[in-house]
Amino acid sequence: MTDKNTVVVATGNAHKLAEIEAILGAAPAMAGMRFVSLKELGDFADPVEDGDTFAANALIKAQAALDETGLCMAVADDSGLVVDALDGAPGIFSARWAGEHGDDDAKNQKLLREMVDVADEDRTARFHSSVVLVTRDEDGEEVLVGEGDCEGTIAHDLRGTNGFGYDPLFELRDIAGKRMAELEPQEKNAISHRRRALDDLVSKL
Ligand code: IMP
Repeated sequence: MTDKNTVVVATGNAHKLAEIEAILGAAPAMAGMRFVSLKELGDFADPVEDGDTFAANALIKAQAALDETGLCMAVADDSGLVVDALDGAPGIFSARWAGEHGDDDAKNQKLLREMVDVADEDRTARFHSSVVLVTRDEDGEEVLVGEGDCEGTIAHDLRGTNGFGYDPLFELRDIAGKRMAELEPQEKNAISHRRRALDDLVSKL
């Protein structure tokens, strides 16, 4: 497949595809581009994400998507929770922090345990997202990176049923008393780290 108007999005998550398409697709520089998730194009093995930053891991995913599909434009994101009192953990290991990939409850219980002795004023944290757009042609590659944060603190208990991952423990700095898991999806999308990273990327196009 060598469709110059196709951007492969290195995710299997339909919600992320829609968010990326809505924000990047509205940028004048991306006019006429079609966004397709990697999952729709084939059954490819996940690349090893052994970078030491969010951006490095997003780049690994985007380049793997180009290698696998032969397309010339790919977008990928990598995100996670950065807790100051834990020296930035779980960070790039956010997905696998409690061993079992995808077990949100185990990850949240581990976070509560690790933070049990941390005073309220030291419980600051942020969600971070790096979004990478890679364009390949016969001369090489152009890489653009967007970065975004959403600031908050780690609460002492879980609250809220929306969202995923660490959302029930994440108290938003800019909406007093609200957990990320208490926001409606559109409210979260308007202020999320991913939204901010995509806006940052669009500003560089
Ligand atoms: P990914 O980059 O979407 O694979 O996210 C990596 C991990 O970071 C997820 O498995 C979650 O544990 C955590 N994470 C990323 N974004 C969010 C979010 O918006 N809310 C809660 N947890 C998140």
